[in-house]
Amino acid sequence: MSVADCYAMVLEKAGGPLVLCRRALPRPGAGQVLIEVSACGVCRTDLHLLDSELPDIAYPIVPGHQIVGRVREAGAGVDPGLLGQRIGVPWLGWTCGACEYCGEGRENLCDNARFTGYQLDGGYATHCLADARFVFALPEGYDDLAAAPLLCAGLIGYRSLHLCGDARRIGFYGFGAAAHVIAQVAVWQGREVYAYSKPGDADAQDFARSLGASWAGGSDETAPVPLDAAIIFAAAGELVPAALRAVKKGGAVICGGIHMSDIPAFPYSILWGERRLQSVTNLTRADACEFLALAPQVPVRTQVRSFPLFEANEALAALRAGELSGAAVLTVGSG
Ligand SMILES: [Zn+2]
Ligand SMILES: [Zn+2]
Repeated sequence: MSVADCYAMVLEKAGGPLVLCRRALPRPGAGQVLIEVSACGVCRTDLHLLDSELPDIAYPIVPGHQIVGRVREAGAGVDPGLLGQRIGVPWLGWTCGACEYCGEGRENLCDNARFTGYQLDGGYATHCLADARFVFALPEGYDDLAAAPLLCAGLIGYRSLHLCGDARRIGFYGFGAAAHVIAQVAVWQGREVYAYSKPGDADAQDFARSLGASWAGGSDETAPVPLDAAIIFAAAGELVPAALRAVKKGGAVICGGIHMSDIPAFPYSILWGERRLQSVTNLTRADACEFLALAPQVPVRTQVRSFPLFEANEALAALRAGELSGAAVLTVGSG
């Protein structure tokens, strides 16, 4: 590899697989930084990208939106103090600052937002670009591998938890990367966690209990108490009526994923009682600052399984097969 080249795992067409490509090193434009990637988390959203379950995918695209790396070059107008700094890049890659949502401080709903690893080349690569306004210092005490899952599993999970308000007993449907991070936060906040795995997945249930869950069982089981709220991290629409049945009057069901299979018809009576059903969409930079400051206080401990960058397809397959406890993270270089 010449100094002016980099490598990326590229999604060239619907369905993949990702292809290792050698590319010219991108150069940062005004307001951008060039990042030497050391680790990049693997997210279920990357599977939705691969499976064309997201609209308007800009092929070829480099997935990856939980990027940890160091700033190697700064474009015009960027604080030169960022050079050499370790930073994290999340899903929210750019917002317009001009639409009604941006004006209301709800940039997660920006009409013109662009997302890392979806419309902007992401971190399944040795190098990537990012808008300097959308990168974050990472808490010390987390090495690059351990920090990566904080950037989506953590951030989207935290936003989901926040939408549960002051709920004390919270059900988690799908105990993967996001739940394993946010269960720790919930327990630390004095809440009770009720973890639902795929039916019969004893490993996931043991994992949930090891992180402080008060109860763990299959999604076909009933928790021993009515819940104040539930967060659905799994992409299975049939969990929505199940979760509505598990929460008590006034409770909330929060859908944490970007895509879900169709929700089956259900009787109004399970929504009645002022139960609330809400999705979580993207994140704001304020979410990122808040959660990245909170994580080391808990302290959140991420469990990761690392794969070299060129084994991104294998990492995605392991995620799809439900073989992971915690999060998969791609490692690049010495990261
Ligand atoms: Zn906007
Ligand atoms: Zn994600």
